Amino acid sequence: MKAIQNYLKKNETGNLKRNYMDAYQNESFHHLVDTLNIEENLLMKYTSQLEEAAVEKENCKHCRNLVTCKNKMKGYCYTPRKEKQRIIFSYEMCSRKEKQEALLAYQKNIHYFRIPKQIAMASFQDFYKDSKGRVPILKYFQSFMEEYLKTKKGKGLYLCGSFGSGKTYMLAALFNELAKKGVESCMVYYPELLRLLKSSFGSSYEEKFTMVKKAPLLLLDDIGAENVTPWSRDEVLGPILQYRMEEELPTFFTSNFTLEELEKLLGETKNSIEMVKARRIIERIKQLSESMVLNSKNRREG
Ligand code: ADP
Ligand code: MG
Repeated sequence: MKAIQNYLKKNETGNLKRNYMDAYQNESFHHLVDTLNIEENLLMKYTSQLEEAAVEKENCKHCRNLVTCKNKMKGYCYTPRKEKQRIIFSYEMCSRKEKQEALLAYQKNIHYFRIPKQIAMASFQDFYKDSKGRVPILKYFQSFMEEYLKTKKGKGLYLCGSFGSGKTYMLAALFNELAKKGVESCMVYYPELLRLLKSSFGSSYEEKFTMVKKAPLLLLDDIGAENVTPWSRDEVLGPILQYRMEEELPTFFTSNFTLEELEKLLGETKNSIEMVKARRIIERIKQLSESMVLNSKNRREG
């Protein structure tokens, strides 16, 4: 009886070993097991799971982004570890997923109105370091953050410059940095806000308008790209700026236009020329913000 048992056991071990050695021919498999530092006798009991883990690890090596993640659970990698005399497999979160999770945690502090996702995730870590034009802006950010975190006050920024130079990106990075410290804010693609408000007349207009007006920090992105009307200027922009001046709420702008150019734009609507009203808006912007320029090559792809 014992002899039969021994024979079967030996045979089984032989099979396990054969399977293991077969799998070991695969490059990603042997890379994985070589890094584990676990004795072969134990490893060979887990060949098929190790194969699965090796495939996932290989997928991670060629990873481009979370959306195209090929692993069974997106953002996780099936990973072995030794525990006593066993190998335990678990789904470990990858660094991209961790980053995304951390982001989601602080992004709840920011309300977005049509800001592209890629820009919403901007951070100082991923910053281009090439353009000298950014240095004064970064210095300004630093002093703004210090002051704002101490006093909850501070002068915003009117950042103008060429299309695609990274204006929105820079301000998103600032807002994200502050959101990590619990600061609530609102980033609004301004032309889209106007469309949104228009379509919510009679329903959620007041709620949307108030949320933007009262946001502790506000970015009005791409001001001047909208279709200027007396309504957008006198009923939306004007009151938002007026309120924020009175309440001393930091307000930021990006634009492809200088303040002088914006004044002209705001002055001429389809039916009339009202330079006084335009001037008043510009005065408010000047009170609310410092003006800086960021010109650089277009960084938009395609
Ligand atoms: P603008 O608002 O000036 O038109 P964007 O902020 O939209 O320009 O930037 C254009 C593109 O370049 C975006 O896709 C953005 O992700 C990228 N980008 C801009 N600035 C940086 C930066 N400092 N670091 C990394 N990517 C950037
Ligand atoms: Mg922009």
